[in-house]
Formats: sequence, structure tokens, C-alpha cells
Amino acid sequence: AGCLYLVATPIGNLEDMTYRAVRVLQEADLIAAEDTRDSMKLLRHFEIHTPMTAYHEFNKIDKARALIGKMRAGATIACITDAGTPGISDPGEELTRMCYEAGISVYAIPGPAAVITAVTSSGLPCRRFAFEAFLPRDKKEKKRILEELKSESRTMVIYEAPHRLRQTLADLAEALGPERKLTVARELTKKHEEKARMTLGQSLDYYRQREPRGEYVLVIEGKSWEETDSEDRARWEEMDLDSHMQ
Ligand code: SAM
Repeated sequence: AGCLYLVATPIGNLEDMTYRAVRVLQEADLIAAEDTRDSMKLLRHFEIHTPMTAYHEFNKIDKARALIGKMRAGATIACITDAGTPGISDPGEELTRMCYEAGISVYAIPGPAAVITAVTSSGLPCRRFAFEAFLPRDKKEKKRILEELKSESRTMVIYEAPHRLRQTLADLAEALGPERKLTVARELTKKHEEKARMTLGQSLDYYRQREPRGEYVLVIEGKSWEETDSEDRARWEEMDLDSHMQ
């Protein structure tokens, strides 16, 4: 039987392509790409002439069935997305799950992912972190997640589109407080890479003066022990007061 390769590709800088990624893409029978036009540039650059087919959010179930049929018949298929690691806020997860159900082997070819690049260069603790991907677009759902994040003590990593950056920073400042530190990582591995360390409060001013452009990852400090401690103390004091009043 064939198998599936989930192949990570660069998130900007083409030099981040791995030797193994190039070889696997060259040797595969078929490449399932999120956007075939977009991936054409990458394949051309690395002289990869493997046929391509579109596999994206909108055809993922039907297409996965068809791809599984081909792998059952012996084909080796490589899945790539527009950038970074398949399955990380990108198609790939569904296909992988269906391969497991069909008894087809899956191999990930590791490489760039914006989450790892951002968290490791953020200057914030990265031993433990919580990857939130994109916050929900639905207002109520977004609020629910922000409510959950109030008690998160791990560093948090969030992906955001430029046109939603200001609103998300404002929502985060409201939920976590303006004093909370963060690193805004922009255009990682590219020519205009920038990492801005500031507080959530300062970030509102910062982006009032600049139009957000390019790709962003927000790396936010988790809730500190001091903060948890002082909140607990306030609660105890309140409880104490209540018991005295009874
Ligand atoms: N699969 C990708 C990965 O492994 O990181 C993520 C794909 S997701 C659809 C795209 C989002 O990832 C962007 O909106 C941005 O938040 C983040 N991203 C991707 N490339 C980036 C880069 N070079 N710099 C900063 N953020 C990036």
C-alpha cells in the first residue's frame, strides 16, 4: 500500500525548505496542495515536477476519500499547504485521521511552523505554552475563549490576520489586563521580520500609529504566580470578612 507524507514547507524564507522535503515531494506520485497555483512557485524553485491536485478546506472530505483510494492502490501522496506545517491551522488533520481509519501509514516531514518560530524567539517562557491558533471569529465564542484564557498560566500563542489585529489586541487587553506582556512577531523569516516586545496596553497605541500589515503571531505571557496569589488573597480576605459578618 502507499502512504501519506505531511510535508512542512517554508513560512517565508525558501532557504528553510529541508532536503528531505524536496526529495519526498520529488518522489511522491501525487502532491495534494491547498492552493496549487501558490505551490507552483515553490515546486518550480526546487525543480519538483510531481503532479498536483487541490486539497483544501472546501473539498476536504470528498477529496480525502479519493486520495485514500489512490493510496490503497499503492500511491504515495504528499500533502502541502500554502505555508508551514500541514495540520497546524491548515488542512491535513482530516486526511490524517481518515488514513488512520483506513490503515494507511502517515509520516510527517518536520519543518517550519510559525507557532514554534514565534514562541522560541519571543523572549517569553517557552517550556510550556498553549497554542490557541486563530481566536474564533464569532463574538460570543471569542469571548468564551478569552474568559478561559484569563486563568491560563502558560505562555499563549495566537495567530491573527492583519485586519483583525487591532480588535484582537483590544479584546486581549480587556480580558487579561493592559499590564500583561506580549511579543508581537511579524513576517517571521522574511525580509521585514519584526518582534515587538510590549504590554497589551502599549500595543494598542503602537498599532494606532501603524497600519498592521503582513502576517502576525501574538505570544502572550501567561498569568503570573503573583497575580494568582494576590487574587487568591483578595478572595480569602473577602471570605474572611463574610464569615465575620455572619
Ligand atoms: N500551517 C502554518 C504554520 O505551520 O504555521 C499556519 C497557517 S495559518 C492559515 C496562517 C497564519 O500563520 C497567519 O495568519 C499568521 O498568523 C501565521 N503565519 C504564517 N506565516 C507567518 C510568518 N512568516 N510570520 C508570522 N506569522 C505567520
